[in-house]
Amino acid sequence: AQERYSDLRDQPATSKCGTTTRLLMNAGLMADLPSLEGSGAEGVGLFRTELQFLIRSKVPRRGELAALYARVMQAAKGRPVVFRTLDIGSDKVLPYMKPQDEPNPALGWRAIRVGLDKPGVMRMQLQALIRATNGGPLAVMFPFIAQFDEFRAARQHMLDELEREDKLGHVLPEKVEIGAMLETPSLAFAPRQFFEMADFISIGGNDLKQFFFAADRENERVRKRYDTLNVSFLTLIEHIVARCEETGTPVSFCGEDAGRPIEAMCFAAMGLKTLSMRPSSIGPVKNLLRRVDLKEVKTVIDEARASGAQSVRTELIDWLGRSGW
Ligand code: PEP
Ligand code: MG
Repeated sequence: AQERYSDLRDQPATSKCGTTTRLLMNAGLMADLPSLEGSGAEGVGLFRTELQFLIRSKVPRRGELAALYARVMQAAKGRPVVFRTLDIGSDKVLPYMKPQDEPNPALGWRAIRVGLDKPGVMRMQLQALIRATNGGPLAVMFPFIAQFDEFRAARQHMLDELEREDKLGHVLPEKVEIGAMLETPSLAFAPRQFFEMADFISIGGNDLKQFFFAADRENERVRKRYDTLNVSFLTLIEHIVARCEETGTPVSFCGEDAGRPIEAMCFAAMGLKTLSMRPSSIGPVKNLLRRVDLKEVKTVIDEARASGAQSVRTELIDWLGRSGW
């Protein structure tokens, strides 16, 4: 599939209306890095750092992590890389972590909740990231933020580590961006100050959708009941984009749905200018984005919403058909 789209690799995802969508890739393992060149990704929008922890039998050491993150940054050759701090718990259980006896792990002690309650590993990770930059820029985001205070506290850990590294005589990154993943519906309704404080926001659509529809993302039977192009979900996305626009906060979407062409087209029409996806999706998504006028897509979406449709998928597919697809 990659080959079919190779002509597009160095072309921008510019739609007929003139809007260019930035297409980034998701990664987490060293094996993903060659895709940075092959896929035409403009950078890494989500580096899932927990994957490095999941493939080991014990907690990696700081030096090891710093070397690894430095390799990722080098492979990116100046393109942006957004590192997400450890997102464990729920479906991602570390072999060396005491199993938690929780009736509902997806709603349990996971991700930033672990990071804030037991900050040792997260802080070590932040130190490793700072050292890995070797003076270059750094973008870090925290997973599973559900309320403003969690972001404030996580961000403070980063600021403390920067101060500590400075005192230890390490060179600091030239620029540090601290962002939040928006993957619980509550965060979409946080105070304005949260959006002001966040340097950027990345919508984690896999979890956001799971919690919005109360449907387990791992459970096909219930997951498939709820279309991502459901008007309620799109209205939530629209709300998030509007809140980010109010404060000038850059916002992207990094869940699996960003890699599905019709979904990606829909998100772009709702105002998302950055999408991060698995590398093999970049070609197909770019191909569709380049052929459509996003203003027309938005009109189709708005008309479908006004008609009382549950999802805008049928209307979009019909419209694509009428446009010669
Ligand atoms: C998400 O929830 O959409 C996301 C990108 O994070 P993960 O799939 O790793 O939970
Ligand atoms: Mg998630």
